[in-house]
Amino acid sequence: MRKVLLVTGGSRGIGAATCVLAAQKGWNVAVNYTANSKAAEEVVRHIEAAGGKGLAVQADVSNETEVMAMFDKVRSELGPLQGLVNNAGVVDVSARLDEMSMARWRRMFDINVLGSMLCAREAIRQMSTQHGGQGGAIVNLSSAASRLGAPGQYLDYAAAKGAIDSFTLGLAKEVAAEGIRVNGIRPGLIDTEIHASGGLPTRVKDLEHLVPVKRGGTAMEVAQAIIWLLSDEASYTTMSMLDVSGGR
Ligand code: NAP
Repeated sequence: MRKVLLVTGGSRGIGAATCVLAAQKGWNVAVNYTANSKAAEEVVRHIEAAGGKGLAVQADVSNETEVMAMFDKVRSELGPLQGLVNNAGVVDVSARLDEMSMARWRRMFDINVLGSMLCAREAIRQMSTQHGGQGGAIVNLSSAASRLGAPGQYLDYAAAKGAIDSFTLGLAKEVAAEGIRVNGIRPGLIDTEIHASGGLPTRVKDLEHLVPVKRGGTAMEVAQAIIWLLSDEASYTTMSMLDVSGGR
């Protein structure tokens, strides 16, 4: 019996790789996206080619009404959730703190922190044995930036990911006795479109000399770690933060 997984921001990058690998490992997968339905449908096609059921679901993770509608739709079309990957995330252009606006910080925390908390809340309402669920696993995408601080670039993003680290730790303890494991991944420099969205399309090439293994990582290398944390092979692993960062 295939379990049901929701991946936020599943239409590209690390999220898309996670959706496809999850289907290969036996999950049915809901692919969340904001605007690009074509990209999400393409991921659904890959899920179905791997033998899984796929569902593209539109929602901005920082919008409570849209998120609640998304969880209802996933439940009615695929069944109750057993896995959530809080992957949706954004950066902004490089700046110093004394150049940043409140509007920028609000977007950074709304999507990266509150979006993850909101999706985790809705997942727990379906998965927790206290709510009649079967248990499950949550993986939160943090970043190596939470350890490095990203000075002069985007320390608001780093601070938001630091919040994800604390959130992962607290939530893991809170729901451990209700059949739910909660872990985090801290990717390092991974080759996706996120860097171009922050105005630095060549960021991975520019900084790879700083990585001990001397290269950027791939979305699939992060997905492999996410899928392991979701799986029964990680049945005694909760409250862990796994660095997938080539030693950086
Ligand atoms: P990406 O290629 O830019 O993809 C981001 C995904 O998030 C897209 O599918 C995007 O959907 C979605 N998204 C953005 N805002 C959203 C919102 N408000 N609601 C729902 N979905 C939203 O990013 P990535 O590199 O794969 O990163 C994935 C995660 O890993 C993020 O949390 C990021 O912070 C973290 N991470 C990445 C790196 C790296 O080097 N790449 C390093 C450390 C941590 P649309 O296409 O609809 O915009």
